[in-house]
Amino acid sequence: MHDNDCLGEAARIMTICNACRYCEGLCAVFPAMEMRRTFTAADLNYLANLCHACGACYFDCQYSPPHEFAVNVPATLAEVRSRSFQTYAWPRAFARLFEHNGLTISLAAALSVAAFVLGFVGMNDPAVLFASHSGAGAFYRLMPHAALVAIFGAAFLYACTAMAMGVRQFWREGGVVPDEPGPTQSTWRAVKDAMTLRYLDGGGAGCMNEDERPTDRRRLFHHLTFYGFLLCFASTLTATFYHYGLGREAPYAWHEAPVLLGTLGGIGLVIGPLGLLAELSRREPALRNQPRTGMDVAFIVMLFLTGATGLLLLAFRSTPAMGILLALHLGVVFGFFITMPYGKFMHGIYRFAALTRYGKERAGPAKHAARGTGLRGAG
Ligand code: SF4
Ligand code: SF4
Repeated sequence: MHDNDCLGEAARIMTICNACRYCEGLCAVFPAMEMRRTFTAADLNYLANLCHACGACYFDCQYSPPHEFAVNVPATLAEVRSRSFQTYAWPRAFARLFEHNGLTISLAAALSVAAFVLGFVGMNDPAVLFASHSGAGAFYRLMPHAALVAIFGAAFLYACTAMAMGVRQFWREGGVVPDEPGPTQSTWRAVKDAMTLRYLDGGGAGCMNEDERPTDRRRLFHHLTFYGFLLCFASTLTATFYHYGLGREAPYAWHEAPVLLGTLGGIGLVIGPLGLLAELSRREPALRNQPRTGMDVAFIVMLFLTGATGLLLLAFRSTPAMGILLALHLGVVFGFFITMPYGKFMHGIYRFAALTRYGKERAGPAKHAARGTGLRGAG
């Protein structure tokens, strides 16, 4: 028995799938499911985070609605997945931030931007906000570098701690996984599967849309977003090295590594999220997790705003618009950082953990030591 209808429905569907097994070649969910006879809440949270929501199993299923079995794996696992973010949220008191998540993220972003605008005005003569600044250290005439490092360092540290605590709980509840021959083999496999989004290919055909014609567009836009984000992060790390290692203050010339990486990353963060929003609108209605659409949209919009405000800042950094654009960009990035543990960002963290567990289960012997859940031999 499960303590909520969503988990009960997921257990019912997984039991049907486990008898049918028609979809076992589509993705990692079905082989992982086949290693189990019963489905605890932790098992279902694990399977839900393995699912990439490609939709293939819904269209392939002979038991999907209007059949009386009403099997809808993608929509059911999407709801379990969303609830799992809440289940493992740290600290527990903040789990409710996943409810009305779109509103929460929007408010956090708006307040962060307002705080940076007010901070710039409060710390300086207001005229400084609308003046042109150029040369090394131009940004720091609005806010000292040390203050920026302290604020963003604290936000980032907090976000990393909260995410680590969440994924630790997720991993622990999943139970002990079998040993594997090489200590890092499954991790490397998980890295590769995550970096290539291997299981977003619908078993080879692509993601399903409402016109029932699978395409790889969703994977492409996801890649642009993900690698855009990584490039922006690399830009920040490189700029930190320039500042502390080379003793050179931002802003840097367009041909220098921090700007090149940031520009490429920003372009990815603009095109990728716009494409993902378009794909979301084309999604087959039966596959949508309607109550959680706000969380999806808020996350995508925050990524888009991060890229767009960064590019605008780069384009207008020598003009009087720089002060407002800097406040806008820093506010969006700060809002993104502090809400990372309480939004859709967590899907990447839990998915990677689930892929790692799956790799270990596949590599390990046919046993499951933890809770007697009936894990069967890895296929
Ligand atoms: S989704 Fe349908 S066809 Fe696929 S394994 Fe489950 S019951 Fe069988
Ligand atoms: S990844 Fe695709 S095929 Fe696999 S369970 Fe999810 S929706 Fe179905």
